[in-house]
Amino acid sequence: MIRTENLKKVFPGGLHALNGVNQEIRKGEVVVIVGPSGSGKSTFLRSLNLLEVPTEGHIYFDGTDLTGKKVDLDKHRQRMGMVFQHFNLFPHMTILKNMTLAPMKLQKRPKEEVEKQAMELLQRVGLADRANAYPSQLSGGQKQRIAIVRALCMNPEVMLFDEPTSALDPEMVGEVLTVMKELAKEHMTMVVVTHEMGFAREVADRVLFMADGQVQEENDPETFFEHPKSERLQTFLSKII
Ligand code: ADP
Ligand code: MG
Repeated sequence: MIRTENLKKVFPGGLHALNGVNQEIRKGEVVVIVGPSGSGKSTFLRSLNLLEVPTEGHIYFDGTDLTGKKVDLDKHRQRMGMVFQHFNLFPHMTILKNMTLAPMKLQKRPKEEVEKQAMELLQRVGLADRANAYPSQLSGGQKQRIAIVRALCMNPEVMLFDEPTSALDPEMVGEVLTVMKELAKEHMTMVVVTHEMGFAREVADRVLFMADGQVQEENDPETFFEHPKSERLQTFLSKII
């Protein structure tokens, strides 16, 4: 579904955030990315939907080269939902409005249809009674669950998560991971940057270790955690588990 070829990103000032990433993410696959801070995880994720423009290399989405000149980027971005560490909800809009805005504006879908879908999604994450509340009235865990269903309201083909639980109080992490686990069970294609190793073990089809802007090691979760090959990954895992 997504293939990156020699993906490189150099930020102004000469910092090499991505040093040639070659990856293939299959339809329905759950890929978890771990690695130290500053290793390029966010840059990689943001490159996949061209929030960062790569300096070099290619990104193919369903065969289309997103780095090509004639690509309708807005259309492609709509096919990928993104959830950030800080929920990025619009503070002055109700939850329902937060969810229905983009499907109505960008996808030109009728209000009734979108609202119906939004309510079904809210039901699924147990927040239907909060449809008319404002983000400030919700807990962090609730806001993040809303951010996830807001992305789902666009019917994306891929979901990208950048440390979705890192800003949450510990007691709220579980409720967000539960929603993500359910999505995985429904075979959503997912790329998840996280420090939640339990989630990685349980849900990932493949775990990637990034350091210095490259994928240094990748494997199925059991092999990844039980038999890390490089000393670098062994050291990293010993520090976080
Ligand atoms: P991670 O998500 O793994 O912590 P990032 O992808 O955020 O790492 O960052 C990789 C490197 O790129 C870091 O050294 C970071 O400081 C740098 N970087 C990220 N975004 C920018 C930017 N907009 N401008 C300049 N440097 C950046
Ligand atoms: Mg990051």
